[in-house]
Amino acid sequence: MKLALKLLIDIIVILFLLGLISCGQDSPFTKNVNTPASYSPIEITKDQILRWSDNNLESGLPLKIASEVADDLNHDEDDVAMEWNNVLPQRTFFALPFPTVTNREKTSLNSYFDDEMGIYKSKNWFSELGPGVLAITQFFGVRRTQGGHEYIEFQHADIIVNYRDYSFSSNMLDATTYDLPSVLLHEMGHFVGLRHEYTTTKSVMWPALRRNVSVRQLYPVDFQHLEDNYDGQEVLPMAVAISTPKTESVQGRFELRADGDCVHFISGQNVGTHHLQ
Ligand SMILES: [Zn+2]
Repeated sequence: MKLALKLLIDIIVILFLLGLISCGQDSPFTKNVNTPASYSPIEITKDQILRWSDNNLESGLPLKIASEVADDLNHDEDDVAMEWNNVLPQRTFFALPFPTVTNREKTSLNSYFDDEMGIYKSKNWFSELGPGVLAITQFFGVRRTQGGHEYIEFQHADIIVNYRDYSFSSNMLDATTYDLPSVLLHEMGHFVGLRHEYTTTKSVMWPALRRNVSVRQLYPVDFQHLEDNYDGQEVLPMAVAISTPKTESVQGRFELRADGDCVHFISGQNVGTHHLQ
């Protein structure tokens, strides 16, 4: 009798376990990660804060640089990044020195959301982008709210330089090339969350650069914008009502234009400005 009871219990236990296992197999396995396809484009002209979380800025963001770009930069990438690292003493934006890596050339911009954030060169460039773009910074992020205001927290970003249409060097005497330190100083500004500055050309975030012009140091307005972005009293309110879920993922990019005839620098002095088209 005892044996029969034990057998019965064993059978019940086995059936129960089988039931659990089969239930487990029936349950769909969902992997809760965002793919680039699920990211919606963000209109980056709106006055919305774009930034990394402070946790990312304790030891610096792990941005890397393709060795070919570092060569053209005469290996001065750390000096360029230090311009930004020196602005806010309590934060380190870029982990230095930059590791040099093999260049990643991808066929679509979405594919750059991978396991590495890099400064890359592109020899094929991208059909999504119009002509006249020297370089871009592309970011992926999520919407967050703080004090009733919304901002975008970056999760991933890359800087990609257009080597199909332009040539770059760090030689300021070479009139045939664009100044790579100037390009990357600008793009690193986007990388840390700054948008374009349209009101004054005395900013490295002016959205265009001419050949043979170098802007290798931050202006006071650049300091101010970075400070406002990370230490402002409040996150700026959105221009429009929020109708999207707070977890929405977004992507965006900034384009630095080469057709910047609107910026007139002569011997490092700004001698006149026209409005961009
Ligand atoms: Zn730009």
